[in-house]
Formats: sequence, C-alpha cells, structure tokens
Amino acid sequence: MLDLTSVPFFDNHTHRINVSDRAVTPLDLAIAFVHGLGPVYAPEEPLNSANVENCTPEYEYHVMNMGVVKVLVSLLSQKFGCEASPEAVVLERNKRTRKDPEAYVKELYQEANVIGEMADDGAPYGDPALNCFPTTVYRLFQMDPCIRALLPECCSFSELKERFDAVVREKISEGFSGLKCHLLELRYRKLEVIEDEEAAAVFEKAQKGDQNAFEDVYLALFEHALLLTDELNFTIHLHTGCTGNPNDLKSDTDPFALIPILRDRRYYRSRIVLLHASYPEVRHAALMTHAFPHVWMDISWSLPWLSLNMEQILEEVLAIAPHSKIMLGTGQHDFAEMCWMAAKVAKTALSHVLDKAVDRGLLTEDQALETAEQILYRNALRLYGEK
Ligand SMILES: [Zn+2]
Repeated sequence: MLDLTSVPFFDNHTHRINVSDRAVTPLDLAIAFVHGLGPVYAPEEPLNSANVENCTPEYEYHVMNMGVVKVLVSLLSQKFGCEASPEAVVLERNKRTRKDPEAYVKELYQEANVIGEMADDGAPYGDPALNCFPTTVYRLFQMDPCIRALLPECCSFSELKERFDAVVREKISEGFSGLKCHLLELRYRKLEVIEDEEAAAVFEKAQKGDQNAFEDVYLALFEHALLLTDELNFTIHLHTGCTGNPNDLKSDTDPFALIPILRDRRYYRSRIVLLHASYPEVRHAALMTHAFPHVWMDISWSLPWLSLNMEQILEEVLAIAPHSKIMLGTGQHDFAEMCWMAAKVAKTALSHVLDKAVDRGLLTEDQALETAEQILYRNALRLYGEK
C-alpha cells in the first residue's frame, strides 16, 4: 500500500480562513460547504445563498446530511477520538480553538503537511491578513475588480489596455504568481476571439453599463493577459464547470467553451489553469490538458466537496491528462479543516487508485509514487517556482 501520509500537499486554490477562538455550531461548519441556493420562503423573493440565519429546519436537515459533512465528521472524530456526530466533533474543535486558535490551525496544517496555499484574495501583496495560513502563501491577483475600477477612469479602449497592462506588470513584479479571472461566469455569449478594434468600438457602451459590450472589452483584456503570461512567466486561473457560486450556476461553463480562444495561434504560448476540476465536466478538463500544451487543471472544490467520489475523479483525470499537469486544491474558505480533510482525502484516494494500477501491472511502484508526488505538490512548485 502506497503510504502518502507524509508527502507534502500544495493547495492550488484557497480563500481566506478564520483563525479565531469563536465557538461555532455544527450548522456553522456544515453550511460552509453549501454552494447552492438557500431556502426560498416565498415565490417573489430573490434567490439567495444559504446562511445560518435564513435556514429552515428542513433546509438544515439536508445540510447536515451532505456527503462532505459526513466525511468531515468521520475524519475529525478519528482525529479527536470522539463520537462521530457533528455535535461531538464540534465540541472538541471548539475546545481547541478556545485554548489556542493558531496552534489548532497549525496542527491541522502540519498533520496534512501543507506546504503551500495559492490564495485567491483581494488584499494587497504582503497583507498580514494572509498570515492566517501557517504555510507558504502564493497569491493570485484578482483581475475583475481591477478592470471594473479602471473602466470608468479611461477615455478609450487603448488607454484601458495600456493601464491594465501596467497594473499586471506591477503586480507580477510585486510577487503575485498569476491572475484570477471569472471569464465563464461573466460571459453569457459564446466565447470567440475579440480583436482590439472590436473592443474599442464598444468601449463607450461598456462604460455605460452595456453587458455585451463589457463582455467584449473584458475578453479583449483577457486575451492581452494571455500574451503576458508567456512574457512575464505567470498563470491565469479560471473556474470552469461548477463556479462555486450558486448565482453563477450556468449551463455553459464547460471548459470546451474556451477552445475558440485557445486554438488561436497567438495564445499558444499562454498558461491557463482550469479550476474546480471543471466539475461535472471532469473528463473535458482532463482532455483539455491533453489537447492543449498551455492548459493545466486542478482538482479543487471537487476536493473536498466530492470526497466520496474522489477515487473515480482521479481515475478519470489520470487516464488522459499528463500527470505533470494535474494539481490539487480546495476552494476552502473560513475553516482550516477544509484543507486538512482535502489533503487526507486526496492522499487516501490517490493511494487506492495508484495501488490498483500497480496491482494490475499498469504502473510500477516507482511510477505510482512519482505520479502521487507530482499531483500532491511537485507540479505546483514547478509551475509557480519554489519560494
Ligand atoms: Zn474557486
């Protein structure tokens, strides 16, 4: 049996976590895993995300019965040596955070041997708020707020592009490892290459709030950023498949939507990372990494959300994606337990999947270990450089 317990884990996709002595309830912890719509009280109400305040007893019942919550309860009960109930594990967790929240988070990270976090966060580079992670922090610069802030200040598309270019250069030189964008959430029409002249022609409409015009201006800037990835040596990260936000749930976030852009020879030398394993289009994401030299993927959000399905997901991806282009991540937010469980689940699932391949004679033991290490941390360090 391949023992990966002590192999490092690089989390390719994280949001800020809370390091606090505040006692939480089982529902606080469980609802952090809901990326769906909250309960609806009346037909005329807007669709909202779920939160502890708007929960109905019926809604709470289903939240507490999500597979990911059961897995977390099981893993924490094994760690704490307590009963496997949400109440018991939360009681134990709260005891530890009340005593020393930093020490508790550090213990979780050390146990999972997390050696890096790629943080998707709006804070400036070097902001102490990101010290919430007791490990090396890599940063993504959020492209969308930057574009929205620059748009009203510019007189033309060429000025906007120039200023966007300058910001990206500055941010990468500050130390950011790449850009985060939301191209597929944002765009409602089919993706196709937008030339600068086309963006320039709709610039004023975009400034006035026209959605189609904004999409075109944004896409033209995204294409410019693709060119910069090669020159400045960085990556662009974007959600495909499940975006994580229930209000972004769209039917056209398949990673294949990017093909018209990626097939353009001008962008062949760019570097794109597809996030969230493009779930449920996992196979499509894996095939994209196979078909396009400039596409990588991570299995985040699927990890740890789809913990019960992780072996199958890994098998699908390992079958077609170069093992050198697969990374793992979480998409975690608020709770350090998410990364801890993601690392645990990933290592267990990888052991089983790779053991099976070794048993069948499809991989040697050395190859299996190499693959495990690549996916768990080496690919990320190779792509972003060791700090
Ligand atoms: Zn995400």
